[in-house]
Amino acid sequence: MPAEHDYQPRPGLLDDRVILVTGAGDGIGRAAALAYAEYGADVVLLGRTEKKLDAVFDEIVAATKTRPVVVPADLLHASEDAVTTLYHAIRREYARLDGILHNASLLGPREPIADYPVQDWQDVMQVNVNAAFMLTRGLLPLLEEAPDASVLFTSSGVGRRGRANWGAYAVSKFAVEGLVEVLADELAPDVRVNSLNPGATRTAMRAAAYPEEDPATLPSAEDHMPLYLYLMGPDAKGISGRRFDAGSWMP
Ligand code: NDP
Repeated sequence: MPAEHDYQPRPGLLDDRVILVTGAGDGIGRAAALAYAEYGADVVLLGRTEKKLDAVFDEIVAATKTRPVVVPADLLHASEDAVTTLYHAIRREYARLDGILHNASLLGPREPIADYPVQDWQDVMQVNVNAAFMLTRGLLPLLEEAPDASVLFTSSGVGRRGRANWGAYAVSKFAVEGLVEVLADELAPDVRVNSLNPGATRTAMRAAAYPEEDPATLPSAEDHMPLYLYLMGPDAKGISGRRFDAGSWMP
């Protein structure tokens, strides 16, 4: 059994915390939003497909005492103004923000750089890097007021070692790793910032990247939730600037 299953989050681990999850409508983001709410957090669900966010909202309301806020937003069009609006909405609703899970991501085409379409390159960098930067920058004043804020960026194996035909996706994840290092250095010890590579996980994105693979052979998003909870919660206080891999970590 992987080490991640040895971490036992206690009930109420995230009580009184407000956590923003991007890409919360599907896959790993959906599982994280549900897990954070189950462990007591008020979650802000950001994603581009409102219907999926509403379904996650309903699940959380049915299963927990919390009531999430739904923020339909396509990060392809993220702007400073939109982030300012979100900042005021979170301040108005909760008057605090204790964590961000940057999870939303575009895979983009699987093409060699020689053929990589320029518009796709820009779109992938916009969603995976620029939007995460803008959100972090714009919401930082709220995070800095929190007693133990945690910002988690989602990386990938190809964000640590580049591989042919992973194009902008791989490069964007390298950029995310760089952003984590810069932010962790700037924000210590007040806000902790880490990167997390979920590894091969049974989701729509994985199926798009590896259509020939049998999804039944892969771990589910839910399998990774101990690590997602650990890094967002108080048990990881003081841990910053680190790279985590689901399936091979020790609390
Ligand atoms: P999914 O494609 O299953 O889910 C991604 C979510 O992000 C979806 O809800 C999607 O919305 C949302 N999203 C995508 N683009 C935007 C956008 N422009 N604006 C707002 N929301 C958007 O992906 P995974 O759950 O597999 O991936 C989650 C994270 O984990 C990503 O960062 C990915 O790179 C990383 N990862 C995943 C691996 C895997 O094997 N699954 C392996 C390594 C890393 P919608 O539902 O509307 O499509």
